Amino acid sequence: MSDATIIDGKVFAAKLREKVTAVVSDLKEKHGLMPGLAVVLVGEDPASRVYVTSKAKQTVECGMESIEYRFGDDIDEKTLLDLIEQLNGDPKVNGILVQLPLPKLIDEQKILSTISPDKDVDGFHILNVGRLWTGGDALVPCTPFGCALMLKDFHGSLSGKNAIVIGRSNIVGKPMAALLLAESCTVTIAHSRTDDLAGKCREADIVVAAVGRPEMIKGDWIKPGATVIDVGINRVDAPEKGLKEDGTVKTKLVGDVEFASVVKVAGAITPVPGGVGPMTIACLLRNTVVAFTRQNGFDDPGI
Ligand code: NAD
Repeated sequence: MSDATIIDGKVFAAKLREKVTAVVSDLKEKHGLMPGLAVVLVGEDPASRVYVTSKAKQTVECGMESIEYRFGDDIDEKTLLDLIEQLNGDPKVNGILVQLPLPKLIDEQKILSTISPDKDVDGFHILNVGRLWTGGDALVPCTPFGCALMLKDFHGSLSGKNAIVIGRSNIVGKPMAALLLAESCTVTIAHSRTDDLAGKCREADIVVAAVGRPEMIKGDWIKPGATVIDVGINRVDAPEKGLKEDGTVKTKLVGDVEFASVVKVAGAITPVPGGVGPMTIACLLRNTVVAFTRQNGFDDPGI
């Protein structure tokens, strides 16, 4: 059997960004208005800083306004809540994103539920969660939304397929399951207490891995020809790459899927890096434009 088709998230994300850029340009021309995205970063977490910088850069590249707020770890909850209220009322801000995780002393849920559901471009507000599960006009969390777009593009219809989502987080696993259910898949949600995970995986036509455990899903867990979406991003030691200048071992990114064995069995697979990751920010940009059109009563941009 030949190796699986590689689903290239970089190409897919570039196409989605092109569509967003075209819609933004059209909106500017027709209405003289520009969507704006506010991103709030608290603390010094290096990964979060990289994400926020990248989000801001891509927002501007698509023709939208990026408004950044950066605070130290010592910011108090009230200041953050006041800022969100101010952004909720600002007509130039169409999307609000608070980069997670937040420092322990700040109540994450309280912050997320203060963001106006109409500006909640991360799709974490409970109203958007409810809309997603009940078939309403939700803003959907970016990572699972990107996975669903790639799956639909690859398969056309997902109707009737057996799908397993490994992981039940609010950010990835649960919304992913809701999206697959909405596409008429038969969905299994697996997690750390699931019995015979490998056996359940082997029954699936679609496997979405969102576990956070490096290379956990092996080739012999996969039904021949299945489509495998690897959401995991794990940094592991890579002694084969040698040492860094400070004498420590170099590292690399791997997914939750053991790519080398799974690529031999699956029909299609997303690589790490270059699979799901690039789609997440592209979907954030898409959500910002959609939020903008809904807030202004304009036609749905259909992206
Ligand atoms: P999480 O830690 O919140 O959830 C992990 C889930 O995996 C839990 O529901 C848990 O029940 C399940 N799990 C843990 N061990 C398991 C096991 N042995 N067997 C079966 N299930 C098990 O993580 P998350 O936020 O959902 O993220 C999951 C992964 O996706 C992480 O690697 C994260 O870095 C990555 N991620 C990537 C993107 C992206 O843009 N590509 C976005 C978000 C998260």
